[in-house]
Amino acid sequence: MRLILLGAPGVGKGTQAAKLARRLQVPHISTGELLREEIQNSTPIGLQVTEYMNAGELAPDSIMIELLEKRLREPDCLNGFILDGFPRTLSQANYLKTLVECLKTPLDAVISIEVASEVIVDRLTRRGRYDDTPTTIKHRLDIYHRETEPLKEFYRQIGMLRGVDGDADQEEVTGRILRCIAAIDF
Ligand code: ADP
Repeated sequence: MRLILLGAPGVGKGTQAAKLARRLQVPHISTGELLREEIQNSTPIGLQVTEYMNAGELAPDSIMIELLEKRLREPDCLNGFILDGFPRTLSQANYLKTLVECLKTPLDAVISIEVASEVIVDRLTRRGRYDDTPTTIKHRLDIYHRETEPLKEFYRQIGMLRGVDGDADQEEVTGRILRCIAAIDF
């Protein structure tokens, strides 16, 4: 199973990706987590992306592409993967398309988790991660609408997009996603 989870910051992508990964026995690949690890280990990539993350900006596509390709080439991805936080721009989506073609690992579906903006801001404010300040929250949401939301159209056009209402408790949302996947005609 090769899935992409799309959705604004705060829709619960990370939580759902982790649950689905356990259920489906495939790795959960969170590019935000990969970046936080790089920062923690003070690697050259970590040093380059710190400022972007603190400001709520996207890290450069070139860095993200390098990180993701390295991760997808690891052997545990042969069985599938759940991508959380990638792609976030059209250029990342185009790159991913070429990469999965080249690795002969086509994507199965793109699940877009939908939650109303007011609910999202409330959730992010409570989460209290170091990059969740009111200014960066607003900025990350703006960037999401500008850069990432157009990906829904990109995936809709190739028939891969599935929308799931994310305004329910975590277990219920996981159930909705699993039912949505089960309904896909592979
Ligand atoms: P959230 O879901 O709240 O946005 P993430 O953990 O997915 O949190 O991402 C945290 C930060 O990491 C983002 O605000 C961004 O700076 C950076 N980041 C993660 N994934 C990408 C990506 N694919 N492209 C660019 N920047 C990214």
